[in-house]
Amino acid sequence: MTPINPNTARVQQPITTVIMECNHSLGFRESPPAVGERIFCFKCNVPRAITSKMPQWRYKCIVCHTARYFGGAELSAMTFASKHSITNHHTVNVYRGTELIETVGAHHSNGLQIPLDIPIKED
Ligand SMILES: [Zn+2]
Ligand SMILES: [Zn+2]
Repeated sequence: MTPINPNTARVQQPITTVIMECNHSLGFRESPPAVGERIFCFKCNVPRAITSKMPQWRYKCIVCHTARYFGGAELSAMTFASKHSITNHHTVNVYRGTELIETVGAHHSNGLQIPLDIPIKED
C-alpha cells in the first residue's frame, strides 16, 4: 500500500480514495488500508483514522491502453467506456477500484459487427 502524496504526485490517478476523520482524502494505487487504520494525512501533517473507502470507477482499453478515471461516477465510466469502444472499435474494461465490472465491446475482437443504429420505421 503506497499512498499517493497529493502534493508531489499529481500525475498518478488513485484507484481507491480513502476518507479520513479530518475529512481529507488520500488516493491509493494498489490495495488501500482498511477502515479504522491510521494513515498519515499530508494536509494535516499528522496520522488520521480512515472513516470510509471510495473505490474509483475507471476504464482501461485493452487495445490502446487508454485509461480514464471517474471518481464515484459509475454512469460516466460506463458511458465513456462505450464511447471509446464504439469510436475506436476497441475492447474496454470497466473497473470499480480493482474489481473488473464489465467488458465493453468484446465483439470487436472476434470480428462480429453489431449495428449501432437500428432505423425505426413509421407509417
Ligand atoms: Zn487531514
Ligand atoms: Zn482504445
